[in-house]
Amino acid sequence: MGFFSKIKETFVGKSTKQNEKYVAGLDKSSTSFSDKINSLAARYREINDEYFDELENILIMSDVGVNMVMTIVDEIKKEVRLNNIKDPHAINDIIVDKMFVIYANDSIMSTKINYAKEGLTVILMVGVNGAGKTTTIAKLANKMLKEGRTVMLAAGDTFRAGAIDQLDVWAKRLGITCVKGKEGSDPSSVIYDGVKQAKEAGVDVLICDTAGRLQNKVGLMRELEKMNRIIKKSVPDGPQETLLVIDATTGQNGVNQAVEFSKITDITGIVLTKMDGTAKGGIVLSIKDMLNIPVKFIGLGEKMDDLQEFDLEQYIYGLCHDLMGE
Ligand code: GDP
Ligand code: MG
Repeated sequence: MGFFSKIKETFVGKSTKQNEKYVAGLDKSSTSFSDKINSLAARYREINDEYFDELENILIMSDVGVNMVMTIVDEIKKEVRLNNIKDPHAINDIIVDKMFVIYANDSIMSTKINYAKEGLTVILMVGVNGAGKTTTIAKLANKMLKEGRTVMLAAGDTFRAGAIDQLDVWAKRLGITCVKGKEGSDPSSVIYDGVKQAKEAGVDVLICDTAGRLQNKVGLMRELEKMNRIIKKSVPDGPQETLLVIDATTGQNGVNQAVEFSKITDITGIVLTKMDGTAKGGIVLSIKDMLNIPVKFIGLGEKMDDLQEFDLEQYIYGLCHDLMGE
């Protein structure tokens, strides 16, 4: 059974709190994508080359990424020929299946946080200014606290004015400690203090904010290398995660940033923020294609519980439910 029917069976007519989040957060993308596919089907009596050209455009406009689009459309063409399908209304399921089969076949794509077996887990958050790092740290901390873990924060973005205070305000709201240095001070020394205090306090997780100055790649690379070295001195397996935060509304630009970051430091997972603010939800596929790094979380809004673990089926349903006869 393909995805389309499996997801339809799992979700259509049933609603859980989590899939309500996905459906609401992906509303813009879903409307845009489904409307385009449905209107395409309405305009063509028969599937032909022009139909496929338009389908390609729709996928590219959804930020799926050109290479991926070519592969997907080739696969759809094959399937259509094989089954001798002529009616454009009859291929929604094939479109959806082929879009995600490439993503789903890959078993390495674990979306779970890699916590230390024992002792401190250190998480580094990287990404350009405005991507949503600080807010995501707060959301992530909130999630971990709810799961019963103890959390501390380190305000490693010493570069941007107000960044330390912003993180500190969140820490106060969450009732946790935020380790700080002075604005303009060496971020690695803040990370050093953070690790030290986190170990002394025996907390489970330390989440470190950083400044993402991609403009100065060599500087950023050195800064991140130094942070990694400092963390490893007291937590040899750390940082257990280096999460790259990408603003989904920046589209292919965001994907290019991700590629640049992955050259600078080892990224273990991606957080795609502001998915609620884009009509181009296909960026998830583009990231998979360009980087093969798992999207671990997606931001579906500005509220604390709007950060959701990435779940492929929920995502497909959120994006494509209008094509599933709902
Ligand atoms: P940083 O510079 O990377 O630390 O980015 P911030 O955490 O300061 O976030 C920049 C802006 O993006 C803030 O106004 C956040 O509220 C907003 N933001 C972050 N994540 C999301 C999201 O998932 N959805 C929406 N709508 N806004 C978000
Ligand atoms: Mg910040």
